[in-house]
Amino acid sequence: MDYRGRFAPSPTGQLHFGSLAAALGSWLCARHAGGQWLLRVEDIDPPREVPGSATGILAALPAFGLAADAPALYQSQRIAAYDTAFERLRAAGQVFPCWCSRADLAATGGFHRDGRCVAPPDPQRPPAWRLRAPDIEVAFDDALQGPQRQNLRENAGDFVIRRVEGFYAYQLACVVDDAYQGITEVVRGCDLLDSTPRQIWLQRCLGLPTPRYLHLPLALDDEGHKLSKSEHAHPVDPRDPLPALRRALRFLDLPAAIHAASAEALLERALHDFDPSRLPHCSNRLAA
Ligand code: GLU
Repeated sequence: MDYRGRFAPSPTGQLHFGSLAAALGSWLCARHAGGQWLLRVEDIDPPREVPGSATGILAALPAFGLAADAPALYQSQRIAAYDTAFERLRAAGQVFPCWCSRADLAATGGFHRDGRCVAPPDPQRPPAWRLRAPDIEVAFDDALQGPQRQNLRENAGDFVIRRVEGFYAYQLACVVDDAYQGITEVVRGCDLLDSTPRQIWLQRCLGLPTPRYLHLPLALDDEGHKLSKSEHAHPVDPRDPLPALRRALRFLDLPAAIHAASAEALLERALHDFDPSRLPHCSNRLAA
């Protein structure tokens, strides 16, 4: 099968160093495999969205030499597909409405298990909808981090696929769209390593293929905190792309030629002897 990779930013701020490193890692893997590199704007969480950031991110990527092979897919345009997936899960009896609050679940470490709610149904308020997490081990072989396994019931619990506000959750939208875009390998940051078993379980429930996964190390700030767009940390400047691109290449242990005159030249050099298996590992492991 032809390789298809993707970069799937949430429009919660401008492109920052951490997301540039993830975009670069997924672009390199796709180009190395002679495959396609696609974009997806994960704009299904309006309260967290920063106006203008989707346009800003999409405009910045080509300045860093990261050109996609097709126009970006917007998740806000995909609600009908999520409705279909949701109805399928509901018809199969795999989801249930839930009125439990965070406080209700504090006694079980925030986990909801065995479809058993603490809060009673409340017809005055809309529920969240959760997918039942069975007592099984989900295992996968991460292309960089090696074999991973997670007991879904213990370490994920029944998880939300549609939120109280009516928005679909990241896990459901991501799985539906990775399949829709024909993604064969998901390359992203290690912070999502522990979402992967839930996504694989959803793929099984929906009869969708499971892509390969490769989780990159996560860029941290000087204090060891995750660089996240929502913290407005370290935006990169597309008008002066070479310094940030060199940093991102070094972060992935790749050559960052001093004399290259353009982003494209830097990328060409990095791609020349790129080997995905030599990317740096991250320290995350899943609790089984
Ligand atoms: N939208 C997520 C983020 O910006 C990434 C999702 C993914 O790569 O699966 O962190």
